[in-house]
Amino acid sequence: MKLYGAGGEVLLDMVSSWWVNLHGHAQPEIAAAIAEQASTLEHVIFAGYTHAPAAHFAAELAATLPPPLSRIFYSDNGSTATEVALKIALQYHHNRGVEKHRILALSGGYHGDTFGAMSAGKDSGFYKPFGDKLFTVDFIPYPETWQDDPDINEKEAASLNRLDELLESRDVAAVILEPLVQGASGMRMSRASWVAEVARRVRAADGLVIFDEVMTGFGRTAKLWATDWVGVTPDLLCLSKGITGGFLPLGVTAATEQIYEAFAGEDFSMAFAHGHSYTANPLCVAAARASLKITKGAETSTNWTRISASHAAVLPELAAHAGLERVRQCGTILAADVCGGGEYGGNLSLAMRDFFMKNGLLMRPLGNTIYLLPPFIISDQELQQGYDAITEAAYRFSRS
Ligand SMILES: *Cc1c(COP(=O)(O)O)cnc(C)c1O
Repeated sequence: MKLYGAGGEVLLDMVSSWWVNLHGHAQPEIAAAIAEQASTLEHVIFAGYTHAPAAHFAAELAATLPPPLSRIFYSDNGSTATEVALKIALQYHHNRGVEKHRILALSGGYHGDTFGAMSAGKDSGFYKPFGDKLFTVDFIPYPETWQDDPDINEKEAASLNRLDELLESRDVAAVILEPLVQGASGMRMSRASWVAEVARRVRAADGLVIFDEVMTGFGRTAKLWATDWVGVTPDLLCLSKGITGGFLPLGVTAATEQIYEAFAGEDFSMAFAHGHSYTANPLCVAAARASLKITKGAETSTNWTRISASHAAVLPELAAHAGLERVRQCGTILAADVCGGGEYGGNLSLAMRDFFMKNGLLMRPLGNTIYLLPPFIISDQELQQGYDAITEAAYRFSRS
């Protein structure tokens, strides 16, 4: 849980170092797996070739995914995982001779910093300098919700109405969304039943459903996948961040057999011609195998339950705090907004970041949103330190 600064300071990592770390820093089994792989095979071209670690991990990962997701496409980070999903979706329709070009996304969604990912995340407001270079994406309002939210039914209905309007033309190739939690736009949460309804309606219009689980995957929501709460399996699932336990970069786009079939065969013009030099790098895949083994162990799921219960127990107290609003939780993720506003990268968030540092915590607020997204090994006492810091920050920084 701990990071040690150059001046001897000790920081508890309450945000899993930008949401990548699952099992704590320098986890010995993952470190050993990388060292062993490095002395065997460090890299080999993956375009038209394969290697044992990649084949093993693909099979092991696919076994954990809800059917009919069964096919694994490798890349090397979260942005590429979503680029790949968008490209597969467009080419899927193209290969079948179907005219569908429109991409739908959710207002406030974040899918990475490359051009396709930026286009699908345009509404997040991070990409103003590139506005005219992004392709057209249609956005649906995101019905974010929190503890004791009286208006959620209306928000969801408005969102679904807009979706129905956009689906009328029947030219929607795919919808991309972060199931249950939008991470970068401030840990904004939505209900599983609404996510399921979006997926059902897009499917009914013969569009594909892409779940971007780059942040929510590998147990953050207290199930292995946020998809497991939703109950509707997407056609394409994007994974990265936690995939190697926070050691090395790796991206995966999982697909159904039906999608795979639309690309299979001898004709190269039907193939998905997308590859990065470090696609399926053996060291990264070795780390991912070691991390998945720990993730599937009983101890890890016990930790999800323990952290979730601990968050749930403190929720009423935080919701009653005069300096906090929109208190919310999804599994191991806890978030609240400090009253009085403040934008992303603004003075309030920087001042709060400093305050947490001085109190021995690595916590990086998103605007006025404070959140905990800890490695699963966090102790009950360390969780309490996080809650105390949130309470104290709310007293100091709220402007209600
Ligand atoms: C972080 C993130 C990405 C981008 O991943 P990178 O590895 O930073 O490129 C994409 N989607 C979601 C939901 C993310 O949280």
